[in-house]
Amino acid sequence: MDFAFATEPGPDRPNEDHVIVSAGLAIVLDGVTQLPGLETGCVHDPVWLVQELGNCLVEALTLQPAAPLGGILAEAIGQLRGCHEGRCDLTNPNSPSSTVAIARERGSQMDYLVLCDSSVVYEDSSGVTVVHDDRTESLPAYDRHTVARLRNQPGGFWVASTDPAAAAEAVTGSVALDGLRRLLLCTDGVSRLTEFFGISWTEVFGLIERSGPRAAIDLVREYEMNCSGLLARPGRRRVKRHDDATLAVLRSASRTGALDAGPVV
Ligand SMILES: [Zn+2]
Repeated sequence: MDFAFATEPGPDRPNEDHVIVSAGLAIVLDGVTQLPGLETGCVHDPVWLVQELGNCLVEALTLQPAAPLGGILAEAIGQLRGCHEGRCDLTNPNSPSSTVAIARERGSQMDYLVLCDSSVVYEDSSGVTVVHDDRTESLPAYDRHTVARLRNQPGGFWVASTDPAAAAEAVTGSVALDGLRRLLLCTDGVSRLTEFFGISWTEVFGLIERSGPRAAIDLVREYEMNCSGLLARPGRRRVKRHDDATLAVLRSASRTGALDAGPVV
């Protein structure tokens, strides 16, 4: 099964999203932007974090192609700890971190995993399903102390950082390839199309099928320019006007023939 993808940083910043696709596999990561002056205990930045985590995930997924994705993620986070080479304080709650979305073909199934606010969205015979971990949407406050206190703690929210136990908090599942019509993985820079801008996932899939995944990011930028007021929600965490935006989209089911998304790219 093939995946197409597109990724684009917000203006004037490095891309802290990361996407990896291979045959029957897609990984989308969103490195958490660090607040200015925040002590992280780590000499590395979010770009390093998502690239190293991506490498660790690919290695684990390649060596264990049928292992449960939660175990794969736990193993990758454990390996990632070693990538800091003893130079960093891995007990610091502000250590660099990332959201995770994975889709992996396994026999007649597509397995998926979502940790934090990236998403997996698919459509099968029962309609559109959005796989989303919404625990960052209901924190009591969003100041840096509260967020640090609740990161990777029971009752808080979970991200891929220095604690392999976060993997057990991911949302996981499988969908049968037979009947799977559409599937994508994306960071919250893309899901704002539906979350804030009032577009349906069916419309997003339609746009991608007509014009490719880049068109979804172009539409995000158009709304960010012309309708930025829609990003403000009282009581919700502050949302950047422009965010890194990344998506990977299933194009075809070459073995089953069950899905043909058409000429996406
Ligand atoms: Zn480090």
